[in-house]
Amino acid sequence: MAEEHTALTVALAQLKLAAQKLELNSGIHKMLSQPKRSISVSIDIRLDNGAIGVYNGIRVQHWDVRGPFKGGIRYYPNITQDEVTALSMLMTWKCAIADIPYGGAKGGVCVDSKKLSKHELERLTRRYVSLIVEYLGPHRDIPAPDMYTDAQTMAWIMDTYSQLKGYMVPECVTGKPVEVGGSEGRTEATGRGVIHCVKEAAQNKNLKLKNATVAIQGFGNVGYHAAVAANEIGCKVVAVSDSTGAICNPNGLNPVAVLAHKEKTGTVQNFKGCINITNEDLLETECDILIPAAMENQITCKNADKIRAKLVAEAANGPTTPEADKCLHEKGIVLIPDILANCGGVTVSYFEWVQNLTREHWTLQEVNEKLETKMTKAFDDVYALSQKEKSDMRTAALMMGVGRVANAIKVLGLWP
Ligand code: GLU
Repeated sequence: MAEEHTALTVALAQLKLAAQKLELNSGIHKMLSQPKRSISVSIDIRLDNGAIGVYNGIRVQHWDVRGPFKGGIRYYPNITQDEVTALSMLMTWKCAIADIPYGGAKGGVCVDSKKLSKHELERLTRRYVSLIVEYLGPHRDIPAPDMYTDAQTMAWIMDTYSQLKGYMVPECVTGKPVEVGGSEGRTEATGRGVIHCVKEAAQNKNLKLKNATVAIQGFGNVGYHAAVAANEIGCKVVAVSDSTGAICNPNGLNPVAVLAHKEKTGTVQNFKGCINITNEDLLETECDILIPAAMENQITCKNADKIRAKLVAEAANGPTTPEADKCLHEKGIVLIPDILANCGGVTVSYFEWVQNLTREHWTLQEVNEKLETKMTKAFDDVYALSQKEKSDMRTAALMMGVGRVANAIKVLGLWP
C-alpha cells in the first residue's frame, strides 16, 4: 500500500474528516484549511570560523480566534513550510481540546542544531526573532520549545524580544528557565500529561497499570519524562530509544540511570542489563503500552501490523500514518491521538503565561495538580465524544478541536 502523503496532506485530510462529521459550513472549512499568516525569512549569521551561514526560518500562524497564536519552534534540517503549516494546524486543535485560550502556530529553522556551537545557535535564535518580532508578542504569538530547542533557546528569545522593545517581557515566550519567569514543571509537562492520558485510558479499558510494560520511542525531553512518570504510577519501562538505537530489558529499566548513561556516552545503547535493539524493533516490542515520542511517520503500514501493544499514546506530533491508524484501529488497539496525548506541554505553557501576566509564581505541586485536572478533563471530553459518535479517539479529538474553533468563528463573525 503506497503512503504518499505529507504532513500537510494528512492534516488537511483530518480537517476534512472533522468538517464532514460536524457538517461544517464550507466557508469555515476553507478558512481553516489555510493559515492566517505564513512567514519565511532568511537568517544570516556569522559562524565561528568567520564564514556566513544562511538558514531558512519559518513561522506559520494558523488561526487565532480563541486567543493569541501559540506553538513551539523546532530546529530541524529539511523542515518545510508545508510541514510547519501542518504542525500549526495541529496546535490550533490541540489548544482547543485542552480548552486554553490560544490559537495555533508553529515555527521552524532549517538547521542541524548539532552542527552549530552554542554561540552560533544563540546568534541564529536572536536573528530569527529579530526578523519576525513584529508578529510576536504576549497577546499576538507566543513561542515555546519543540524539537531541538529548549529553555536556553527560550531565554534568548525572551531577551531578544525584550531588548527590541526596551523593557523585559517574560510573557512573550514560554518554556523559559525558572530564573527568568519559567514555570515549575514545564519541562516535564508533556511527558507527565501523556501518562495522565494513559491512566485515564487504562481505567476505561480495564488495563491494569501495576507492572504494565511500556516501550518508549525517543528519549528526549518528552520520552524521558514520560518514562519517569510511567514508573511513578507503577508501570515497567521495558524499552527506550534515541536516534542512535534502542535498548530493551523485559524486567524493566530505570530511566534516570539510562539518562545518566546517555549523558556520559552520547547514546542509550550498551546500557547495563539491557540488550541493544533497533528503533524498528522497539515499536514491535512485546509491551502493553507503546509511546512514540520521537517524530512523525514512525508507525506506518509497514510495521502497524506487527505492533503488539494494547494502547498507543502519541507523545510525538503525527507519529502514525493514516493507513497505520486504520490498521491499529482494526486490530482493536486503543490510540490516544497526539493533539490530546501531548497537550500537557502547551497546557503548562499556558500556566506559565498566566503566572507571568499576573507576576505570580506557583509551586510545582500547584502546577502538577492543575495539569492533572486539565488533562483528565480533556481526555474525558474526547472519550465521551468518541463513545457518543462510536468513533476512534482521533476522530473525536478532531471533532472537538475543529468544532470549538469553528464555533468561535461563528460567534465572532467576519470583519468588516
Ligand atoms: N511544542 C509543543 C507542542 O507541540 C509545545 C507548544 C507550546 O507550549 O506552546 O505542543
